[in-house]
Amino acid sequence: MVHWSPFVQSFKKKYPWVQLAGHQGNFKAGECGTILKKHTPKEQWALRKLMADILRPYIPEYKGVVEKNSEKYVQMQDLLGEFDNPSVMDCKIGTRTYLEEELKKAREKPKLRKDMYQKMIEIDPTEPTSEEHRLGAVTKPRYMQWREFMSSSATLGFRIEGVKKGDGHSSRDYKTVRTKDQISECFNFFIDGDPSIQTKYIRRLKAIRATLESSEFFALHEVIGSSLLFVHDRTGKASVWMIDFGKTTPLPPSESNDHRTPWVEGNHEDGYLFGLDMMIEVFSDMKPK
Ligand code: ATP
Ligand code: MG
Ligand code: MG
Repeated sequence: MVHWSPFVQSFKKKYPWVQLAGHQGNFKAGECGTILKKHTPKEQWALRKLMADILRPYIPEYKGVVEKNSEKYVQMQDLLGEFDNPSVMDCKIGTRTYLEEELKKAREKPKLRKDMYQKMIEIDPTEPTSEEHRLGAVTKPRYMQWREFMSSSATLGFRIEGVKKGDGHSSRDYKTVRTKDQISECFNFFIDGDPSIQTKYIRRLKAIRATLESSEFFALHEVIGSSLLFVHDRTGKASVWMIDFGKTTPLPPSESNDHRTPWVEGNHEDGYLFGLDMMIEVFSDMKPK
């Protein structure tokens, strides 16, 4: 077994790095088993704070900010580094995938997105209103809400964003995967029906949940658009980490949230624990095949 260590990783680059979400240009390979992600103040803040929280074992190790070609990047542990030709799955957690401030902005100063209109009609040409058709555009929260309802985010509090298996199979085509049965089918395919991988994932998800429930950081933040990254390989190694804190926002002073109460505008609830409960349920009910 290769333990994560700077020297081993920089010496032994035996795996191709896999990115399942986001823009390709946002990531670069870093040195010594790290990756570089385009810097945002929110993500840097969250990762820095998380290093001092009980959630730390479930977060990629934060290594500070570096500058390359006058661009700022957050440097963090490459979670694939310890694995041999890993299978990777990104699940976005939460019932809501946009910030309340984005909603407010869109209301006050709507920015029309033609690219999001295009993505919408590719999946359902009947979805845009006649006004949206006329404009050939939709606002970002409108698009994000529609994505939540088309997928399992709205009902189950999480959705699959992408999968890449060790055997080469990969897909980001999960936009309309919505029911528990459909998700279960995808999870089963991802783990190739291996019950020991299933057990390891369930154990790790339960450990994450228990830690979240007593984390100070988690009680004081709205965690939006964050994912759980699942990684396993042929050697039987399997683990899950929390990633993507680009929209993780501190709550106003003296407010807190429980991450299970349904969202109404202003309560900052994100449905994170609701989603994790559902995910553990689907994983546990799954009959490996
Ligand atoms: P989006 O907001 O659209 O989800 P993003 O630009 O914020 O994208 P992330 O979601 O943080 O980017 O990461 C995109 C992908 O990169 C993940 O799905 C995962 O495959 C990979 N990735 C991110 N962080 C790590 C990490 N620390 N180690 C290994 N892989 C990672
Ligand atoms: Mg992401
Ligand atoms: Mg993101």
